[in-house]
Amino acid sequence: MNHSLVDRPIKKADDRIRGNVNVQSVYMLLKGCLHTHTTCSDGKLSPQEVANAYESRGYDFIAFTDHDYLLKPNYREICGQLKTNMIIFYGIELTVFVNGYIHVTKIEGDREVLHIFNHIGEYDFTPEQLLVRLTELEKMYPLDAVEITTKGFREMVFESLNIAYPKIASDDSHTLGGIGRAWIELDTKREKDSIIQAIKKGKCWNCYI
Ligand SMILES: [Zn+2]
Repeated sequence: MNHSLVDRPIKKADDRIRGNVNVQSVYMLLKGCLHTHTTCSDGKLSPQEVANAYESRGYDFIAFTDHDYLLKPNYREICGQLKTNMIIFYGIELTVFVNGYIHVTKIEGDREVLHIFNHIGEYDFTPEQLLVRLTELEKMYPLDAVEITTKGFREMVFESLNIAYPKIASDDSHTLGGIGRAWIELDTKREKDSIIQAIKKGKCWNCYI
């Protein structure tokens, strides 16, 4: 269940900006993107350039989710060597065959793992066909959420879809211009597993430019 935008805890964000909150000890409003691409697969920017672009836009965390079938062999090593103050999740976008190819991201926390059925608007599925794929995917992966945006753009038909998964907005960025269109915010500890646990519970807000 996603909260509506009107529920967003603006006050806490304002407090953090004003420095009224001890960010080390309390839950905080975090901004993040769970779907990005780099030159480690088909993205145009290097991982460091992607990190810099998101960090300069005020993000607290991002997930690198390069494609499995294009992946550079040293991808994990590169992701671990970035210079940034953001939390960086190591992830991978898996190509899965379920009556046609679909994409699922696997994102690693410290102990938690997050699986997201990606860009459900890109497959030209009817809502009924989508539910069939969801049922098949559930047999293959412990699915946690669905991405309802397409390259960062809103898909109103999927926002209102009655499904039992948290709905996530992401950029699926491949270029500098694709960065910052859609993101999630959540109020939790600034650590990987707390972020993943909050998303699994649907305790996040989808935000758009
Ligand atoms: Zn992608």
